[in-house]
Amino acid sequence: MKLPIYLDYNATTPVDQRVVEKMLPFFTQHFGNASSKGHAFGWAAAEAVQQAREQMASALQAQPEEVYFTGGATESINTAIKGVAATYARKGNHIITVRTEHKAVLEACQHLEKQGCEVTYLNVNSAGLIDLGELEAALTDRTILVCVMWANNETGVIQPISDSAMLAKSKDALFMTDGTQALGKVPVSVENIDLFACTAHKLFGPKGIGAMYIRKKNPRVRVIPLIHGGSQEDGKRAGTLNVPGIVGFGAATEMAISDMENESSRLLTLRDGFEQAVTGALSGVQVNGKEAPRLPHVSNIAFEGVTSANLVSQIRELAVSTGSACSTGTGKPSHVLKAMGLSDETAYSSLRISLGRFTTEEEMQFAAEKIVSSVRRLRDSHVVTNHF
Ligand code: PLP
Repeated sequence: MKLPIYLDYNATTPVDQRVVEKMLPFFTQHFGNASSKGHAFGWAAAEAVQQAREQMASALQAQPEEVYFTGGATESINTAIKGVAATYARKGNHIITVRTEHKAVLEACQHLEKQGCEVTYLNVNSAGLIDLGELEAALTDRTILVCVMWANNETGVIQPISDSAMLAKSKDALFMTDGTQALGKVPVSVENIDLFACTAHKLFGPKGIGAMYIRKKNPRVRVIPLIHGGSQEDGKRAGTLNVPGIVGFGAATEMAISDMENESSRLLTLRDGFEQAVTGALSGVQVNGKEAPRLPHVSNIAFEGVTSANLVSQIRELAVSTGSACSTGTGKPSHVLKAMGLSDETAYSSLRISLGRFTTEEEMQFAAEKIVSSVRRLRDSHVVTNHF
Protein backbone atom coordinates (compact mmCIF):
# COMPACT_ATOMS: atom_id res chain seq x y z
CA MET A 1 0.00 0.00 0.00
CA LYS A 2 1.38 3.38 -1.02
CA LEU A 3 1.12 6.45 1.21
CA PRO A 4 -0.39 9.01 1.24
CA ILE A 5 -3.76 7.49 0.37
CA TYR A 6 -5.91 9.62 -1.89
CA LEU A 7 -9.44 9.93 -0.48
CA ASP A 8 -10.48 13.22 -2.04
CA TYR A 9 -12.02 12.00 -5.29
CA ASN A 10 -14.83 14.56 -5.06
CA ALA A 11 -12.25 17.34 -5.35
CA THR A 12 -10.71 15.78 -8.43
CA THR A 13 -9.62 12.44 -9.84
CA PRO A 14 -6.49 11.22 -11.60
CA VAL A 15 -6.91 10.77 -15.34
CA ASP A 16 -7.38 7.06 -16.02
CA GLN A 17 -4.41 5.70 -18.01
CA ARG A 18 -6.83 4.34 -20.65
CA VAL A 19 -8.23 7.85 -21.07
CA VAL A 20 -4.71 9.28 -21.45
CA GLU A 21 -4.03 6.74 -24.24
CA LYS A 22 -7.14 7.90 -26.11
CA MET A 23 -6.13 11.54 -25.74
CA LEU A 24 -2.46 11.31 -26.71
CA PRO A 25 -2.80 11.13 -30.53
CA PHE A 26 -4.80 14.36 -30.45
CA PHE A 27 -1.84 16.34 -29.12
CA THR A 28 0.65 15.40 -31.81
CA GLN A 29 -0.74 13.34 -34.69
CA HIS A 30 -4.35 14.55 -35.03
CA PHE A 31 -3.71 18.06 -33.79
CA GLY A 32 -6.02 19.78 -36.29
CA ASN A 33 -8.49 22.49 -35.49
CA ALA A 34 -11.96 20.92 -35.44
CA SER A 35 -13.25 24.02 -37.28
CA SER A 36 -10.84 23.57 -40.22
CA LYS A 37 -13.28 22.28 -42.78
CA GLY A 38 -10.90 22.15 -45.75
CA HIS A 39 -8.41 19.39 -44.89
CA ALA A 40 -7.92 16.00 -43.30
CA PHE A 41 -6.36 17.35 -40.09
CA GLY A 42 -9.52 19.31 -39.33
CA TRP A 43 -11.77 16.42 -40.35
CA ALA A 44 -9.98 14.00 -37.98
CA ALA A 45 -10.39 16.43 -35.09
CA ALA A 46 -14.04 17.13 -35.93
CA GLU A 47 -14.77 13.41 -36.18
CA ALA A 48 -13.24 12.78 -32.74
CA VAL A 49 -15.26 15.65 -31.25
CA GLN A 50 -18.42 14.23 -32.78
CA GLN A 51 -17.69 10.81 -31.30
CA ALA A 52 -17.20 12.38 -27.85
CA ARG A 53 -20.42 14.35 -28.26
CA GLU A 54 -22.21 11.08 -28.99
CA GLN A 55 -20.62 9.44 -25.95
CA MET A 56 -21.80 12.31 -23.74
CA ALA A 57 -25.27 12.27 -25.28
CA SER A 58 -25.60 8.56 -24.70
CA ALA A 59 -24.56 8.97 -21.04
CA LEU A 60 -27.18 11.70 -20.55
CA GLN A 61 -29.84 10.11 -22.77
CA ALA A 62 -29.82 13.26 -24.88
CA GLN A 63 -29.24 14.00 -28.55
CA PRO A 64 -25.62 14.75 -29.59
CA GLU A 65 -26.61 18.21 -30.87
CA GLU A 66 -27.84 19.07 -27.37
CA VAL A 67 -24.33 18.65 -25.88
CA TYR A 68 -21.94 21.63 -25.83
CA PHE A 69 -18.36 21.48 -24.61
CA THR A 70 -17.06 24.14 -22.21
CA GLY A 71 -14.05 24.74 -19.98
CA GLY A 72 -15.61 23.00 -16.96
CA ALA A 73 -18.73 22.78 -14.84
CA THR A 74 -18.30 26.30 -13.47
CA GLU A 75 -18.51 27.69 -16.98
CA SER A 76 -21.44 25.45 -17.90
CA ILE A 77 -23.33 26.56 -14.80
CA ASN A 78 -22.63 30.24 -15.44
CA THR A 79 -23.68 29.96 -19.07
CA ALA A 80 -26.89 28.19 -18.12
CA ILE A 81 -27.96 30.48 -15.28
CA LYS A 82 -26.87 33.81 -16.74
CA GLY A 83 -27.92 32.73 -20.22
CA VAL A 84 -31.44 31.84 -19.12
CA ALA A 85 -31.75 35.01 -17.02
CA ALA A 86 -30.83 37.14 -20.04
CA THR A 87 -32.90 35.29 -22.62
CA TYR A 88 -36.07 34.88 -20.57
CA ALA A 89 -36.01 38.34 -18.93
CA ARG A 90 -39.28 39.24 -20.64
CA LYS A 91 -41.05 36.27 -19.05
CA GLY A 92 -39.74 36.96 -15.54
CA ASN A 93 -36.80 37.54 -13.28
CA HIS A 94 -37.29 34.93 -10.56
CA ILE A 95 -34.88 32.05 -10.01
CA ILE A 96 -35.19 29.30 -7.41
CA THR A 97 -32.15 27.44 -6.15
CA VAL A 98 -30.96 25.71 -2.96
CA ARG A 99 -28.76 26.85 -0.07
CA THR A 100 -26.48 23.83 -0.44
CA GLU A 101 -25.57 24.38 -4.10
CA HIS A 102 -21.96 24.67 -5.23
CA LYS A 103 -20.51 28.17 -5.15
CA ALA A 104 -20.61 28.29 -8.94
CA VAL A 105 -24.42 28.32 -8.74
CA LEU A 106 -24.72 30.50 -5.64
CA GLU A 107 -22.28 33.14 -6.87
CA ALA A 108 -23.88 33.26 -10.32
CA CYS A 109 -27.26 33.79 -8.63
CA GLN A 110 -25.88 36.46 -6.32
CA HIS A 111 -24.42 38.23 -9.33
CA LEU A 112 -27.84 38.21 -10.98
CA GLU A 113 -29.48 39.52 -7.81
CA LYS A 114 -27.27 42.59 -8.10
CA GLN A 115 -28.67 43.03 -11.60
CA GLY A 116 -32.28 42.93 -10.46
CA CYS A 117 -33.13 39.23 -10.44
CA GLU A 118 -35.03 37.81 -7.53
CA VAL A 119 -33.60 34.58 -6.14
CA THR A 120 -35.27 32.19 -3.70
CA TYR A 121 -32.83 29.97 -1.82
CA LEU A 122 -34.61 26.80 -0.72
CA ASN A 123 -33.79 25.36 2.69
CA VAL A 124 -32.76 21.78 3.28
CA ASN A 125 -33.67 19.57 6.22
CA SER A 126 -31.15 18.02 8.59
CA ALA A 127 -30.54 15.24 6.06
CA GLY A 128 -29.64 17.81 3.40
CA LEU A 129 -32.81 17.33 1.33
CA ILE A 130 -35.06 20.02 -0.11
CA ASP A 131 -38.78 20.05 0.67
CA LEU A 132 -40.82 19.68 -2.53
CA GLY A 133 -43.69 21.56 -0.87
CA GLU A 134 -41.41 24.53 -0.32
CA LEU A 135 -40.31 24.38 -3.95
CA GLU A 136 -43.91 24.24 -5.16
CA ALA A 137 -44.87 27.18 -2.95
CA ALA A 138 -41.95 29.24 -4.22
CA LEU A 139 -42.86 28.85 -7.92
CA THR A 140 -44.63 31.85 -9.45
CA ASP A 141 -45.55 32.99 -12.94
CA ARG A 142 -42.35 35.04 -12.90
CA THR A 143 -40.12 32.02 -12.18
CA ILE A 144 -37.89 31.38 -15.18
CA LEU A 145 -35.47 28.84 -13.73
CA VAL A 146 -35.29 26.24 -10.98
CA CYS A 147 -31.79 25.04 -10.24
CA VAL A 148 -31.28 22.02 -7.97
CA MET A 149 -28.01 20.10 -7.86
CA TRP A 150 -28.18 16.36 -8.51
CA ALA A 151 -25.73 15.30 -5.80
CA ASN A 152 -23.91 17.40 -3.27
CA ASN A 153 -20.13 17.58 -3.47
CA GLU A 154 -19.60 17.77 0.31
CA THR A 155 -22.10 15.23 1.62
CA GLY A 156 -23.05 13.18 -1.45
CA VAL A 157 -26.75 13.83 -0.69
CA ILE A 158 -28.92 13.17 -3.76
CA GLN A 159 -31.87 15.51 -4.30
CA PRO A 160 -35.29 14.42 -5.66
CA ILE A 161 -34.41 15.62 -9.16
CA SER A 162 -37.21 14.07 -11.15
CA ASP A 163 -39.94 15.41 -8.84
CA SER A 164 -38.31 18.86 -8.73
CA ALA A 165 -38.10 18.95 -12.52
CA MET A 166 -41.77 17.98 -12.85
CA LEU A 167 -42.79 20.75 -10.45
CA ALA A 168 -40.80 23.32 -12.44
CA LYS A 169 -42.38 22.06 -15.66
CA SER A 170 -45.87 22.32 -14.18
CA LYS A 171 -45.27 26.06 -13.69
CA ASP A 172 -43.60 26.53 -17.07
CA ALA A 173 -40.22 27.24 -15.50
CA LEU A 174 -37.00 25.76 -16.90
CA PHE A 175 -35.18 23.19 -14.78
CA MET A 176 -31.42 23.05 -14.50
CA THR A 177 -29.25 20.65 -12.52
CA ASP A 178 -25.57 20.63 -11.63
CA GLY A 179 -24.77 17.02 -12.34
CA THR A 180 -21.05 17.38 -11.72
CA GLN A 181 -20.82 14.85 -8.89
CA ALA A 182 -23.55 12.54 -10.16
CA LEU A 183 -22.49 11.77 -13.72
CA GLY A 184 -20.81 8.36 -13.91
CA LYS A 185 -21.58 7.65 -10.24
CA VAL A 186 -25.36 7.16 -10.24
CA PRO A 187 -27.79 6.77 -13.15
CA VAL A 188 -28.65 10.15 -14.68
CA SER A 189 -30.92 11.15 -17.52
CA VAL A 190 -32.03 14.52 -18.83
CA GLU A 191 -35.65 13.45 -19.13
CA ASN A 192 -37.68 16.52 -18.09
CA ILE A 193 -34.44 18.44 -17.47
CA ASP A 194 -33.68 21.50 -19.58
CA LEU A 195 -30.06 22.23 -18.68
CA PHE A 196 -27.38 19.97 -17.16
CA ALA A 197 -23.80 20.85 -16.21
CA CYS A 198 -20.87 18.47 -15.77
CA THR A 199 -17.09 18.25 -15.88
CA ALA A 200 -14.48 15.64 -16.84
CA HIS A 201 -12.10 15.85 -13.90
CA LYS A 202 -14.54 14.30 -11.43
CA LEU A 203 -14.78 11.08 -13.42
CA PHE A 204 -11.19 10.23 -14.29
CA GLY A 205 -10.97 12.60 -17.25
CA PRO A 206 -8.80 15.70 -17.67
CA LYS A 207 -9.23 19.07 -15.97
CA GLY A 208 -10.41 22.14 -17.84
CA ILE A 209 -13.07 20.46 -19.94
CA GLY A 210 -16.76 20.43 -19.16
CA ALA A 211 -20.05 20.08 -20.93
CA MET A 212 -23.56 21.41 -20.78
CA TYR A 213 -26.73 19.87 -22.04
CA ILE A 214 -29.24 22.36 -23.38
CA ARG A 215 -32.62 20.99 -24.45
CA LYS A 216 -33.41 21.55 -28.14
CA LYS A 217 -37.06 20.43 -28.21
CA ASN A 218 -40.13 20.59 -25.96
CA PRO A 219 -39.14 23.24 -25.09
CA ARG A 220 -36.25 24.61 -27.13
CA VAL A 221 -34.09 26.34 -24.51
CA ARG A 222 -32.26 29.47 -25.53
CA VAL A 223 -29.19 30.93 -23.80
CA ILE A 224 -26.80 33.66 -24.79
CA PRO A 225 -23.10 32.76 -24.70
CA LEU A 226 -20.76 33.91 -21.92
CA ILE A 227 -17.83 33.98 -24.31
CA HIS A 228 -18.15 35.70 -27.67
CA GLY A 229 -15.99 35.00 -30.70
CA GLY A 230 -16.16 32.28 -33.34
CA SER A 231 -19.26 30.23 -34.02
CA GLN A 232 -18.04 27.04 -32.35
CA GLU A 233 -20.53 24.96 -30.38
CA ASP A 234 -23.45 26.31 -32.37
CA GLY A 235 -22.62 29.84 -31.24
CA LYS A 236 -23.05 28.96 -27.56
CA ARG A 237 -19.37 28.83 -26.63
CA ALA A 238 -16.77 30.53 -28.79
CA GLY A 239 -13.12 29.43 -28.94
CA THR A 240 -11.07 26.70 -30.59
CA LEU A 241 -12.19 23.35 -29.27
CA ASN A 242 -9.96 21.54 -26.77
CA VAL A 243 -9.93 18.37 -28.85
CA PRO A 244 -7.73 16.18 -26.59
CA GLY A 245 -9.79 17.25 -23.57
CA ILE A 246 -13.06 16.55 -25.36
CA VAL A 247 -11.83 13.12 -26.49
CA GLY A 248 -10.77 12.40 -22.90
CA PHE A 249 -14.10 13.53 -21.49
CA GLY A 250 -16.07 11.33 -23.90
CA ALA A 251 -13.89 8.29 -23.20
CA ALA A 252 -13.89 8.84 -19.42
CA THR A 253 -17.67 9.20 -19.35
CA GLU A 254 -18.23 6.08 -21.42
CA MET A 255 -15.91 4.09 -19.13
CA ALA A 256 -17.53 5.38 -15.96
CA ILE A 257 -21.02 4.55 -17.20
CA SER A 258 -20.10 1.10 -18.48
CA ASP A 259 -18.69 0.06 -15.09
CA MET A 260 -21.02 2.13 -12.91
CA GLU A 261 -23.10 -0.68 -11.45
CA ASN A 262 -20.13 -2.80 -10.30
CA GLU A 263 -18.11 0.15 -9.18
CA SER A 264 -20.83 1.83 -7.18
CA SER A 265 -21.62 -1.37 -5.28
CA ARG A 266 -17.89 -1.95 -4.61
CA LEU A 267 -17.49 1.59 -3.29
CA LEU A 268 -20.70 1.40 -1.26
CA THR A 269 -19.37 -1.70 0.53
CA LEU A 270 -16.05 0.03 1.24
CA ARG A 271 -17.71 3.29 2.34
CA ASP A 272 -20.25 1.58 4.60
CA GLY A 273 -17.55 -0.65 6.09
CA PHE A 274 -15.47 2.43 6.83
CA GLU A 275 -18.40 4.25 8.46
CA GLN A 276 -19.24 1.20 10.55
CA ALA A 277 -15.63 0.84 11.69
CA VAL A 278 -15.41 4.50 12.72
CA THR A 279 -18.83 4.81 14.35
CA GLY A 280 -18.39 1.44 16.07
CA ALA A 281 -15.06 2.40 17.61
CA LEU A 282 -15.81 5.97 18.64
CA SER A 283 -18.62 7.70 20.47
CA GLY A 284 -19.66 11.23 19.48
CA VAL A 285 -19.51 10.57 15.75
CA GLN A 286 -22.17 11.74 13.32
CA VAL A 287 -22.42 10.90 9.62
CA ASN A 288 -23.79 14.01 7.92
CA GLY A 289 -26.57 13.29 5.41
CA LYS A 290 -26.89 9.67 6.52
CA GLU A 291 -30.71 9.76 6.43
CA ALA A 292 -30.82 10.86 2.78
CA PRO A 293 -30.08 8.95 -0.41
CA ARG A 294 -26.32 9.47 -0.88
CA LEU A 295 -23.63 8.91 -3.49
CA PRO A 296 -22.04 5.54 -2.68
CA HIS A 297 -18.48 6.84 -2.41
CA VAL A 298 -18.84 9.84 -0.11
CA SER A 299 -18.69 10.05 3.66
CA ASN A 300 -18.97 13.30 5.59
CA ILE A 301 -18.33 12.69 9.27
CA ALA A 302 -18.24 14.95 12.32
CA PHE A 303 -16.11 14.01 15.34
CA GLU A 304 -17.22 15.58 18.58
CA GLY A 305 -14.49 17.38 20.48
CA VAL A 306 -12.06 17.56 17.57
CA THR A 307 -11.67 20.15 14.84
CA SER A 308 -11.19 18.70 11.38
CA ALA A 309 -8.22 21.06 10.90
CA ASN A 310 -6.47 19.45 13.88
CA LEU A 311 -7.51 15.99 12.77
CA VAL A 312 -6.18 16.51 9.24
CA SER A 313 -2.84 17.59 10.66
CA GLN A 314 -2.68 14.25 12.49
CA ILE A 315 -3.55 12.10 9.49
CA ARG A 316 -1.06 13.25 6.89
CA GLU A 317 -1.09 9.73 5.40
CA LEU A 318 -4.65 10.40 4.23
CA ALA A 319 -5.57 12.99 1.61
CA VAL A 320 -9.04 14.03 2.76
CA SER A 321 -10.98 17.28 2.80
CA THR A 322 -12.20 19.45 5.64
CA GLY A 323 -14.77 21.03 3.33
CA SER A 324 -15.31 21.34 -0.39
CA ALA A 325 -11.99 21.93 -2.13
CA CYS A 326 -13.41 25.03 -3.78
CA SER A 327 -14.45 26.80 -0.59
CA THR A 328 -11.69 25.78 1.80
CA GLY A 329 -9.46 28.73 2.48
CA THR A 330 -12.41 31.00 3.26
CA GLY A 331 -12.10 30.15 6.97
CA LYS A 332 -15.89 29.92 7.20
CA PRO A 333 -17.77 26.80 8.24
CA SER A 334 -19.22 24.87 5.30
CA HIS A 335 -22.38 26.55 3.99
CA VAL A 336 -23.70 23.08 3.15
CA LEU A 337 -23.40 21.75 6.69
CA LYS A 338 -24.70 25.03 8.13
CA ALA A 339 -27.77 24.81 5.88
CA MET A 340 -28.39 21.32 7.29
CA GLY A 341 -28.61 22.91 10.72
CA LEU A 342 -25.22 21.92 12.09
CA SER A 343 -23.65 24.24 14.65
CA ASP A 344 -20.40 25.98 13.71
CA GLU A 345 -18.59 23.57 16.03
CA THR A 346 -20.00 20.48 14.37
CA ALA A 347 -19.35 21.88 10.91
CA TYR A 348 -15.75 22.62 11.89
CA SER A 349 -15.35 19.08 13.17
CA SER A 350 -16.51 17.49 9.89
CA LEU A 351 -14.31 15.64 7.46
CA ARG A 352 -15.15 14.62 3.89
CA ILE A 353 -13.81 11.32 2.66
CA SER A 354 -14.46 10.49 -0.96
CA LEU A 355 -13.48 7.17 -2.50
CA GLY A 356 -12.82 6.33 -6.12
CA ARG A 357 -11.71 3.85 -8.76
CA PHE A 358 -8.32 3.19 -7.21
CA THR A 359 -9.46 2.91 -3.58
CA THR A 360 -8.82 -0.51 -2.02
CA GLU A 361 -10.17 -2.33 1.02
CA GLU A 362 -6.72 -2.25 2.62
CA GLU A 363 -6.61 1.53 2.24
CA MET A 364 -10.03 1.97 3.81
CA GLN A 365 -9.11 -0.24 6.75
CA PHE A 366 -5.94 1.78 7.24
CA ALA A 367 -7.93 5.04 6.95
CA ALA A 368 -10.48 3.94 9.55
CA GLU A 369 -7.79 2.83 12.02
CA LYS A 370 -5.77 6.00 11.50
CA ILE A 371 -8.78 8.24 12.01
CA VAL A 372 -9.99 6.36 15.09
CA SER A 373 -6.58 6.45 16.79
CA SER A 374 -6.02 10.13 15.89
CA VAL A 375 -9.45 11.19 17.18
CA ARG A 376 -8.79 9.31 20.42
CA ARG A 377 -5.38 10.95 20.81
CA LEU A 378 -6.77 14.43 20.11
CA ARG A 379 -9.64 13.92 22.52
CA ASP A 380 -7.20 12.76 25.23
CA SER A 381 -4.91 15.71 24.65
CA HIS A 382 -5.62 19.36 25.36
CA VAL A 383 -6.37 20.13 21.73
CA VAL A 384 -10.03 19.46 22.49
CA THR A 385 -11.88 22.51 21.30
CA ASN A 386 -15.51 21.75 20.76
CA HIS A 387 -18.45 19.65 21.87
CA PHE A 388 -21.81 18.76 20.40
N1 PLP B 1 -20.32 21.77 -9.17
C1 PLP B 1 -19.97 20.84 -8.26
C2 PLP B 1 -21.03 20.11 -7.51
C3 PLP B 1 -18.62 20.57 -8.02
O1 PLP B 1 -18.27 19.66 -7.12
C4 PLP B 1 -17.64 21.29 -8.76
C5 PLP B 1 -16.21 21.06 -8.54
O2 PLP B 1 -15.67 21.30 -7.51
C6 PLP B 1 -18.06 22.24 -9.70
C7 PLP B 1 -19.42 22.45 -9.87
C8 PLP B 1 -17.08 23.02 -10.52
O3 PLP B 1 -16.50 22.21 -11.51
P1 PLP B 1 -15.26 22.70 -12.36
O4 PLP B 1 -14.07 22.47 -11.49
O5 PLP B 1 -15.23 21.82 -13.57
O6 PLP B 1 -15.46 24.11 -12.71
